[in-house]
Amino acid sequence: QILVIGSLNMDVVVRMERLPALGETVLGEEYWNNPGGKGANQAYAARLAGGQVAMLGSVGTDKYGVRMLELLEKAGVQVMDIQRDSGQSTGTAFVLTGTDGSNSIVVVPGANSTCSSEYLAENAELFSKAACVLLQLEIPLESVCSAIRQAKTLGKLVILNPAPARQDIPEDLFPLLDVITPNETELSVLTGGPAGTVEEIEQSAKLLLYKGVRNVVVTLGARGSLIVNQNGALLVPARKVSAVDTTGAGDCFNGVLAVALSAGMPLEKAVLRANLAASISVTRRGALTSMPTLEDLESLWQM
Ligand code: ADP
Repeated sequence: QILVIGSLNMDVVVRMERLPALGETVLGEEYWNNPGGKGANQAYAARLAGGQVAMLGSVGTDKYGVRMLELLEKAGVQVMDIQRDSGQSTGTAFVLTGTDGSNSIVVVPGANSTCSSEYLAENAELFSKAACVLLQLEIPLESVCSAIRQAKTLGKLVILNPAPARQDIPEDLFPLLDVITPNETELSVLTGGPAGTVEEIEQSAKLLLYKGVRNVVVTLGARGSLIVNQNGALLVPARKVSAVDTTGAGDCFNGVLAVALSAGMPLEKAVLRANLAASISVTRRGALTSMPTLEDLESLWQM
């Protein structure tokens, strides 16, 4: 089983001709809800790719929280231990988008901020059952740290997707990570190292190896992913596709990587499979709605 620990959000996206100036009111054309949150996206992607997935995280008791749980449960993610916090609203991002492509976003973490170390510790049984624990940084950092320590004490495979970018991850956490999966920006924020060419990215990734991470897998968008570990560096190219929406590509990558690794696939092959899955997701709109199924994957997986 894969245990995903992280955020659940229900975003509200409003489309308008142009964004309002300060104090101004404009008419919107339409609005809709986008389910998301990196935790929920990754759990969903892992489940669709064939993994047995349980999730820990926190939602409100509002209708958004109920819908998030329904969506995940319908896909087969085990949601019964997700916390329902009546004192908080479900995490939401309010996204204003102009037809010219401009946007303004307000994120309200809501219940995600009450996904505490204590709550995670209460769910020790899920940690024991898991082969692999997958986390991101949209819940309190302290909770992420304690969950990683808990997982590692039990000898579990730990994957950290250090997104959104931050630079204050405690040094003693790095040696507990089997795999860290930053994108280029996150890697550069995390290490203060260079970004740009593959050689520069490799240089920055090595800084994480020196800190004790076992494997660094940097996602490089259309370029694919770069594996950096004690064996050296290996660029695993992406499949060539025409991308229509890259939202959730990283989440798809992480979910599928966790499934492949917990099925015992060697890292190179697992990264190839995660690349393949993410390349499918970018040809579809949305985040959660763009995740490929196991069938989608198998039809393109020839090895
Ligand atoms: P994030 O979405 O977190 O910023 P990336 O942009 O690096 O992460 O994308 C994650 C993965 O998605 C990449 O490693 C790659 O496998 C896949 N991917 C992203 N964009 C494309 C693209 N244009 N064509 C093919 N694969 C892509």
